[in-house]
Amino acid sequence: MATHTDFMAEALKQAQKSYDEGGLPIGAVMVENGEIIARGYNRRVQDGDPTAHGEMDCLRQAGRRARYDGVTLYTTLSPCMMCAGTIVQFGISHVVIGEAENFHGNEAFLRENGVNVIRLDDPDCIELMSRFIAEKPTLWDEDIAGNDPA
Ligand SMILES: [Zn+2]
Repeated sequence: MATHTDFMAEALKQAQKSYDEGGLPIGAVMVENGEIIARGYNRRVQDGDPTAHGEMDCLRQAGRRARYDGVTLYTTLSPCMMCAGTIVQFGISHVVIGEAENFHGNEAFLRENGVNVIRLDDPDCIELMSRFIAEKPTLWDEDIAGNDPA
């Protein structure tokens, strides 16, 4: 049985892929019935798309579906308001967050809206994101428009 840590490692592989491409190292995977059904990563730099956050890309890769009950979204970094709003809008019931040190994100908002949230405080997620922010602070600021809600 794969654990939260195993799935987070898969999300981190997506983040690493983006980092290697010169993009923002934030990755996500969507899991249903113990299987990964979609993977995604932040494509702001790669596609010139400001809304292509890791969670959004993962949802796009999953394609159309009517409901998201029983789906778990793993994301290496605590979700911004755009992604948190999307999670709530579509009723994604479970979110597992790699870390919230580099970006506080919107865990409280998710919980208030009935989403089951687990934060792993994963040292590998923290390390990759910290390294990126130190290397490319302007690009990081652009991705969140200087707006960390916490
Ligand atoms: Zn986002």
